[in-house]
Amino acid sequence: MNPAQSREFTARLEKAALFLLSLEVFRKPDDLARRFGLPLPVVRHWWRNSDQQIQAVDHLSLTPKQAKTIRRATQTLEGWEKRKRYRPPCGALLASGGKCKLSVAIRPPEGWDRGCLADRCRMHGGLSRRVRKVKPQQEDET
Ligand SMILES: [Zn+2]
Repeated sequence: MNPAQSREFTARLEKAALFLLSLEVFRKPDDLARRFGLPLPVVRHWWRNSDQQIQAVDHLSLTPKQAKTIRRATQTLEGWEKRKRYRPPCGALLASGGKCKLSVAIRPPEGWDRGCLADRCRMHGGLSRRVRKVKPQQEDET
């Protein structure tokens, strides 16, 4: 998973989470975070940064279309647990000539704006805040 894919995947999670929260499928960001195994601070941050607009929807009489979009958003978020378990391998070249087979690192909550998954394992700088030289990229000044 390259950085762009990781960011894209994270954006999909965010969109699905905000959708479910806006329909009050989950009443609090924390409930949603716990249900899908997402980091609490991340979901809270997403919700705080959204318009926090709640649409009143009668959950006992959903239209088929609403039910479908809710189901799809739920599936997207369920995909996160699978992603966590089956992360792609790091792939860094080892001195022995092979490639590192450890799973790529999951970034801490404050790093999720750069994508939830790093492109290297923790041994190979996946959690480093510095952008590695092999992939020239703009470093954001913080
Ligand atoms: Zn590695």
